[in-house]
Amino acid sequence: METDRDFCRAHCTDRMILIDFSPATATQLDRAEALCSRQGGRMTQQRREILGLILDAKKPVGAYDLLEKIKTPDRRPAPPTVYRALDFLLEHGLIHRIERLSAFVPCTHLLHDAPAHNHDHCHEHDHDTCLHTAQFLICRSCKSVTEIVDSSLMATLRGICREQNFVMQGASIEVIGLCATCAAEASPAGKASHKQAASSSS
Ligand SMILES: [Zn+2]
Ligand SMILES: [Zn+2]
Repeated sequence: METDRDFCRAHCTDRMILIDFSPATATQLDRAEALCSRQGGRMTQQRREILGLILDAKKPVGAYDLLEKIKTPDRRPAPPTVYRALDFLLEHGLIHRIERLSAFVPCTHLLHDAPAHNHDHCHEHDHDTCLHTAQFLICRSCKSVTEIVDSSLMATLRGICREQNFVMQGASIEVIGLCATCAAEASPAGKASHKQAASSSS
C-alpha cells in the first residue's frame, strides 16, 4: 500500500537526478522522452530512471530487481510506484514484458537502432507495430533476449486468426533456445561436427 508519505517521497525526489547514466543511455532516454511527449505522455524522473536501468541491465530485469536498484537510504519506493512506471513504459512501447521470465527489456528497435536521420514518421510506424506485437529469441543459458521484427510472421498469424474468426489484439512470440555464443560453447565438438558434416557429404 502506498501511503501519502510514500507518494510525497516519490514526488519530492521526482526532479532529483539520483542515478548517473552513461551518455549513450542518456541519449536513448532523451529519445524516449521525446517520443512520449509526442504521444502526450510525461516522462517523469522516476520513469526515466526505471527505463535507464532497464536499458543498462543488458538482460531482462524483473520489477523487484528494479525496486532494489532505485532504493537509497532516503528513498524506498513502494512496489506500486515501480509497477506504475513499468505500465507507463509498456503503454508507450518503450519496453516489452517477457512473459516467460516475468521481466522487462527495452524495445530494441525503438531505442537501439539510433538512425542518423530523424524519420519521425518511420518511428511512429515501427512503434505502432511493436506496441501490438513482439517477437523474441530467448537464450535459455545466458538469458539474453533478442527482439526480432518479421512482418511475414505477423501476416501468417493474421491469416490464421482470420480463418478462425479470431480477433487478434496482440501477439507475443517467445522462442526458447540457445544464442549463437552459448550454442558454440555448449558444443565443444563444434569443429568435430563440421568434420562429420564434411565427411558425410563426401
Ligand atoms: Zn519492440
Ligand atoms: Zn546465450
